[in-house]
Parts: sequence; structure tokens; C-alpha cells
Amino acid sequence: MRISWRSFIIIGIVLILVDAFRPQLLGKDLEHIDQEKYKVAIGIKNNPNFTGGEVKFLVCYGPLMLIFKASTSRFYRDTILLSPLALMDKDFDATIAHELGHIEYGHSWNSDLDKAQIEADTFAAKIVGKKRLRNIRLASGFSKNHPLVKNLEN
Ligand SMILES: [Zn+2]
Repeated sequence: MRISWRSFIIIGIVLILVDAFRPQLLGKDLEHIDQEKYKVAIGIKNNPNFTGGEVKFLVCYGPLMLIFKASTSRFYRDTILLSPLALMDKDFDATIAHELGHIEYGHSWNSDLDKAQIEADTFAAKIVGKKRLRNIRLASGFSKNHPLVKNLEN
């Protein structure tokens, strides 16, 4: 049997919709994938700056998280979605701290994205340090004059 392009596209769209609305179906709890990283994530969540309550860390194998390293879920406010690539990143802790910042500030779909990114970084800097986070942003390609980098200056 030959699979037509049309069915290929339909399968892709279904996967993206499942990924967006029911990320649990294409994901697995971080706890069951990487105990060490799970402990890092829980340790950051338990720091006194974070008052957002319980958080689930879900490693996602769907198509959306091939694009993003990490994200908060738009439909499950207590869930941080992680790409398998995020687990290999040496700055995993900074990624978790940034995403927890989004939850702490209650950012959502219609938040001002630039402002939300700055707020999440301000929160993360309290945990991993301004200087280190600034270096991470510079290394990922942001210029010295970018508001995200400026925000992390002393
Ligand atoms: Zn962000």
C-alpha cells in the first residue's frame, strides 16, 4: 500500500493538534526519563522565589517540541513541556528557571511576548544569576543591545 501525500499531511496535522491540546499523549514524565534532571527541576521549583505550587515536567516527543526547547503549556497551566534536546543542554537549570518564571507571572497566550520573556528571565536570574543568564542569552545569538540582554545588565 502506498501512503499518499494527503494522508501524510493529515497525520501531521493530527499530531500537531494532539501535541498542542493533549501533550501527555505524546510525552512522558521527566521523572521516568531522567532522575537526575528531574531532581534539578524539582530543586528549582522548590526554591522560595517560586510560589506557583505544583508543577509537572513533561518530556514531549511530538512535533511542536522539535521547534522549541521548552515551553509552558497553553492549556495546562501547571505543566512545563520539555524537548528531549533540553535534557542534553548544560543550561537545563536556566531553562527550567525561565519557564517557572512564566508560571510565576501567570503568562498566557495573549501576554505581551517580549515583556513576558523579560519577566521570565528576571525571575530566572534570581535563581541562576544575572551574569550567567546574560552569557547564555549572548551565546544563543542575542545582541548586547537586545532588551532581553539589557535586562540582565547590572
Ligand atoms: Zn520564555
